[in-house]
Amino acid sequence: MSTIAFIGLGNMGNPMAQNLLKAGCNVRVYDLNTEAAKKLESHGAFVASSPEEVVKGVNIVITMLPAGEHVRAVYLGDHHGGVGLLNLVDDDTFLIDSSTIDPESARIVAAEAAKKGFEFVDAPVSGGVAGAQAATLTFIVGGTDSGFEKAQETLKHVGKNIFHAGKAGDGQMAKICNNLMLGILMSGTCETLSLGIDNGLDPKVLSDIMLQSSGRNWALELYNPCPGVTDKAPASNAYQPGFMSKLMLKDLGLGMDAALHSQSAIPMGALARNLYALHNAKGNELLDFSSMFEFYRDKKTN
Ligand code: NAD
Repeated sequence: MSTIAFIGLGNMGNPMAQNLLKAGCNVRVYDLNTEAAKKLESHGAFVASSPEEVVKGVNIVITMLPAGEHVRAVYLGDHHGGVGLLNLVDDDTFLIDSSTIDPESARIVAAEAAKKGFEFVDAPVSGGVAGAQAATLTFIVGGTDSGFEKAQETLKHVGKNIFHAGKAGDGQMAKICNNLMLGILMSGTCETLSLGIDNGLDPKVLSDIMLQSSGRNWALELYNPCPGVTDKAPASNAYQPGFMSKLMLKDLGLGMDAALHSQSAIPMGALARNLYALHNAKGNELLDFSSMFEFYRDKKTN
């Protein structure tokens, strides 16, 4: 059975690491936030106190970090004395990054890894915390054919659908497209429900109607942003994440960067990014991204 180093144990990394432990893998964990790592101890993980310690004796590394700068620092090292995993792992260690980051960072890390004889794939996920808990995540892999084959052996314990998007960085590009759509859908869902409430409709009744109509979408169905409509959604738990608004702003920014690069027009994505920038500037960046609903309801509470 594989011995895996799991680095980054936040809202997503924690349940993913738990599922690898349930599948019988040996899991060593590390997070800059010691408390986040310690939560895995009672589930059977070995809690390491440094990157050097977490990779001892492992044949697979999985990272689940916030953004490209963190992923580059963890694999390549940084100016603060961080050595970089590429200088720490044993020969033949297979490297998987499941964070959502810019494709260029994924390509740089894959190329540096290849120079040292390691295989690295980008494998961002979709499905949220609920998908991570239920091991039903969708993985979107960028890398070589052999990297994709190898990644499936491990990712099958954590996800249900595993796609090969293309070469290094293509997994990230596909994920960025998906989240551009999600940001637009969530903003539109908040706007629509708010319009209905303003005009006297019950948001639960309106949601039920739209779920059987052409306005149906993932945000409305599984992640309803109006408190009280869906029991298990973050909206019904004071918008505790979930998927933080600051991470949605990051992903919509990655969509903007990609559009600048390809000179594509993304007016709806740009609007969604600006909505999240305004929402976050009011101090909502640590709330779940469905708290965009409150942006639309602000006029009712002021
Ligand atoms: P999070 O902020 O909850 O967790 C990130 C963890 O990484 C934190 O515990 C942090 O302490 C740790 N970390 C940061 N730098 C580190 C370093 N140098 N070494 C070790 N640990 C470090 O974020 P999350 O919600 O778990 O998301 C992780 C990634 O997955 C992000 O790229 C996000 O965009 C993506 N994602 C999140 C969701 C979701 O629903 N939350 C869904 C799909 C994809």
